[in-house]
Amino acid sequence: MYSPSKHINPTGFDTPQLIDNYGRIITYLRLAITDRCNLRCSYCMPEHGVETVSHGETLSYEELERLVRLFLQMGIEKIRITGGEPFVRRGCMDFLERLKHDLGVTQLVVTTNGVETAGYLKRLKALPISGLNLSLDTLDRERFKTITRRDRLADVLETLYGALKRGIPLKVNSVVSEETRDAEIFQLGELARDNSLSMRFIEKMPFSGEKMEDPCIDYGLVERLTNLFPGLEQVQTENGSTAKEFKVPGFRGSLGIIEGSSRNFCSTCNRVRITPQGMLKACLYDNGVLDLKKLIRAGINDETLLLKIRSCLNKRFADGHQTESANGSAGQPSMASIGG
Ligand code: SAM
Repeated sequence: MYSPSKHINPTGFDTPQLIDNYGRIITYLRLAITDRCNLRCSYCMPEHGVETVSHGETLSYEELERLVRLFLQMGIEKIRITGGEPFVRRGCMDFLERLKHDLGVTQLVVTTNGVETAGYLKRLKALPISGLNLSLDTLDRERFKTITRRDRLADVLETLYGALKRGIPLKVNSVVSEETRDAEIFQLGELARDNSLSMRFIEKMPFSGEKMEDPCIDYGLVERLTNLFPGLEQVQTENGSTAKEFKVPGFRGSLGIIEGSSRNFCSTCNRVRITPQGMLKACLYDNGVLDLKKLIRAGINDETLLLKIRSCLNKRFADGHQTESANGSAGQPSMASIGG
């Protein structure tokens, strides 16, 4: 249980590690490097897209690298690059190479929709990337067009099979909404039968950029997977994981569920986020707890910035429900402006 005296002394912080007020050690940073995207998924943003911020309001690669260096000093072990769609930002691949080779990020992972990723797989493998999370909600071309408002399923599949061919560790993330039928879940699940990948189903969350009437829907995912895949058995996941993971007899890969709407994993939360505009988020459901861009552009030194970051993480809520109650309307922004 949390004991402030354990890790904080009267003059500041006596451990390099980033620890919150509930004793949760932060080891995972999610960096959204753009809010622009080449798809228009209906659960993520309105048809016309999100109000994008100007390039000048987005953290530059130089600013991002400074932040990564600071977070590495505080014991961050894993960094996820996300967006918007990270590969629509010019220079993304070079940035990834600098993170790996110049800054020494050990666990570097990327979340992508796969639309323009196939052309980068060779360089991603050479990094080497620790893992690719690929978003894919359906294997049906028409459904794909309806969900994403774009006809790009073939490009995504090229990324999927290209990553598998190169042996890049792959997780496929699929958002389950009211429209998702069992047949679709079954078809996606079969990807894990035939391939060595993790197929994860994500509860739709209230981040569509528009007001949602009933944001907390129970999609009964455990029951549905249990019915669809006989012999399904839950396995232990690493600490801090937001996914419940399952093995199925005869499957080369695994199945998973991410209960983002239910928020059943906050007690082991090990992550922080930085938005494209440089807001530090201590929880997916907060409105941003520190304007890093403003501080950086005002000329703050590293030491003071580190103290400010630590201090924010020392005022976290116990879980996403409490954070949401404290922040009211946090559920309306698009996931593209947060990074998932
Ligand atoms: N463009 C990249 C991609 O599609 O993977 C990275 C950013 S995207 C915002 C990250 C993840 O958030 C995707 O897997 C997407 O499906 C998921 N996502 C977006 N809106 C969501 C929502 N309302 N509920 C649950 N997941 C959502």
